[in-house]
Amino acid sequence: MDNITSTFKEKKLKLTPQRIAVYKYLCSTKEHPSAETIYKALHPDYPTMSLATIYKALKTLVEVNLVQEINVGEGNFRYDGNAIPHPHIQCLSCGKVDDIEGIFFNHLNETIKDYTDYDVLSNKIYFYGICHNCKRKEK
Ligand SMILES: [Zn+2]
Ligand SMILES: [Zn+2]
Repeated sequence: MDNITSTFKEKKLKLTPQRIAVYKYLCSTKEHPSAETIYKALHPDYPTMSLATIYKALKTLVEVNLVQEINVGEGNFRYDGNAIPHPHIQCLSCGKVDDIEGIFFNHLNETIKDYTDYDVLSNKIYFYGICHNCKRKEK
């Protein structure tokens, strides 16, 4: 929470209750929800908050680097309250997205420089597989 207060102050952005609610929700979950999922989750507490407002809040939070936008190849984005780059894995059966912890690929930005004349700034790594639950169901 201190994060969002100081970042918004620094960028001179208005800290609206909607933006706080979206950020709080994202920090409270590891599910990497879509905007629609966030909308449904917040609706009981914020019945007047529209999906468009959620999208706007997410856009701002991504712009100030508090939230990470993830695109695992679906039609829509998912969001992550952990803005530090980390690899993700998606289950091809149920569609859930998990963090992979304890391994980082930042060194690839350096490695890749031998293969491109770009100034490499970042990378996003996604893995795909079958999650534990789906594996159990198949048996
Ligand atoms: Zn699964
Ligand atoms: Zn994540």
